[in-house]
Amino acid sequence: MESIPYGRQNITPADIEAVVAVLRSDFLTQGPVVPAFERAVADRVDARHAVALNSATSALHAACLAMGLKAGDMLWTSPISFVASANCALYCGARVDFVDIDRETFNLCPEALARKLEQAEDTSSLPKVVVVVHMTGQPCNLSAIHALSRRYGFRIIEDASHAIGARYRERPIGNCEFSDAVVFSFHPVKIITTGEGGMVLTNDPEIARKVALFRSHGITRDAQRMVHQPDGPWYYEQLELGYNYRMTDIQAALGLSQLQRLDESVEARHRLAERYDELLAGLPVSVPVQRSEGRSAFHLYVVRLQLERIDRSRREVFEAMRADDIGVNVHYIPIYAQPYHERMGVRRADFPQAEAYYREAISIPMFPTLSSAQQDRVVRSLRNALAP
Ligand SMILES: *Cc1c(COP(=O)(O)O)cnc(C)c1O
Repeated sequence: MESIPYGRQNITPADIEAVVAVLRSDFLTQGPVVPAFERAVADRVDARHAVALNSATSALHAACLAMGLKAGDMLWTSPISFVASANCALYCGARVDFVDIDRETFNLCPEALARKLEQAEDTSSLPKVVVVVHMTGQPCNLSAIHALSRRYGFRIIEDASHAIGARYRERPIGNCEFSDAVVFSFHPVKIITTGEGGMVLTNDPEIARKVALFRSHGITRDAQRMVHQPDGPWYYEQLELGYNYRMTDIQAALGLSQLQRLDESVEARHRLAERYDELLAGLPVSVPVQRSEGRSAFHLYVVRLQLERIDRSRREVFEAMRADDIGVNVHYIPIYAQPYHERMGVRRADFPQAEAYYREAISIPMFPTLSSAQQDRVVRSLRNALAP
């Protein structure tokens, strides 16, 4: 039987034509398509500025640099995320710490954040930046976290790698109403893809300018920003230690074409989620709870095994489904449990919700072209795995 992955890109003939058109054009990179893609995403999500980069990982790094994160500073994030949400702090020489998750949404818990901030204030170890993650595509409780940022003076980056196309309080994720910057990923398993790619959205022109500077070697061609008088028309200046984090026009063309189907593909994900909810009712698993103030992009569909009701471990259920060629996955191993991060001495016992989540979670296949027949196969496999 063919195997069903947990996520997969959807490439149409129009996508391919858009990419080929760039390949036939004068510019493969640094041409007109990257700015067009940036403008289109900014308009789509109601943000003032957009800067495209070669990955969300680079975007997180550049956003942290633009906020002045450096040695001696602290960044907090959710332990239930991809490692990139935390590594951006370490790239800047800053330290990272974690805030436990909310039981139902798997997002950074505002109450846990409030408690930790109170303690950090007493020991003068407040974070400079908090990276919140819209886990699985479901928006965090942004207004509560934003209120805390006002009180304690930290900056907020939304890691919205799962959440382009999601909405919070009737507005698109990406509008930066409750944050300083939002980051999207365009990796092929995400909602829309550019092959590899990412973007920083912000309403702050200084953050946008700095991210653009860090994206391309710290070099400017803007005479207004230069330290010296230009020697001539060839002249440019390096003002910061930047990187080559640029997106190509080939990638941007794919992204621009994919963006046309964003609503359609989030709709398809919702239909699949509703169907999973129905098919899984009555099984000893918890299906994802949806909060009314947000609308998820449903990047992932995570079930939690009710381990007290079954005599199978998560590993046994996982392996049984893999044996049926169902591409189940676990998102994510708590970041603090990774050997590289373990050295920093985080105590697992401080994160009871993340620990419980990690014992129980399985991501089952979720992508717009998943057919009903395939979905039935996933559910059959899960049912058999739970009660063999
Ligand atoms: C995928 C992902 C990233 C990294 O995205 P890339 O574009 O692959 O660098 C960061 N954070 C989260 C939550 C992700 O899912």
